[in-house]
Amino acid sequence: MKLILLGPPGAGKGTQAQRLVEKYRIPQLSTGDMLRAAVSAGTEVGKRAKSVMDAGELVSDDIVNAIVSERIDQPDCAHGFILDGYPRTLVQADAVESMLASKGKKLDCVIELLVDDKALVGRIIKRAEEAAAAGQPVRKDDNAEVFEERLREYYKKTAPLTGYYYAKGILRSVDGMLAIDAVSEEIDAVLASL
Ligand code: AMP
Repeated sequence: MKLILLGPPGAGKGTQAQRLVEKYRIPQLSTGDMLRAAVSAGTEVGKRAKSVMDAGELVSDDIVNAIVSERIDQPDCAHGFILDGYPRTLVQADAVESMLASKGKKLDCVIELLVDDKALVGRIIKRAEEAAAAGQPVRKDDNAEVFEERLREYYKKTAPLTGYYYAKGILRSVDGMLAIDAVSEEIDAVLASL
């Protein structure tokens, strides 16, 4: 199964992706995680991405497409994967389609998590507080100021993807305001209906 989880920052894509990993035994491909790993490792990509990420803006399509293209060629992706935080632009959406088409594959479903904007910033702040309390590193972009820019980027560049996938007939929307378990149940129901 090849899935995309779509939704603004704080919508719960990462949380739901982890549950899908357990259930379907396919990997979660989070471009945010991959880019943060590159930043920590101090690679060329990491050096180029760091300031852009800290500002809450989007890293260039070329960089992100190259990372994903390499990742989905790994053997653990042979039976499917969950894309979390990718694609985020129409250029990336076209790129993933070409990557898959070149392997004779296509996406099965795009699940959009619908969440009120007002709830999002609260979730991001909570995530930062929980990470700090657990002694984990706090993301530099998980604060109210940078969040505003991340949300602006989402509406400008990522929200148009819902129309793109709706037109392809593979968009399914789920109420992301429900409790975590209830969102998972809705996603399971969508996947069962495919
Ligand atoms: P995330 O962990 O998905 O919230 O991503 C954190 C940051 O990484 C974003 O604010 C962007 O700066 C960058 N990023 C992650 N995924 C992408 C992507 N698909 N395209 C461009 N930038 C991305």
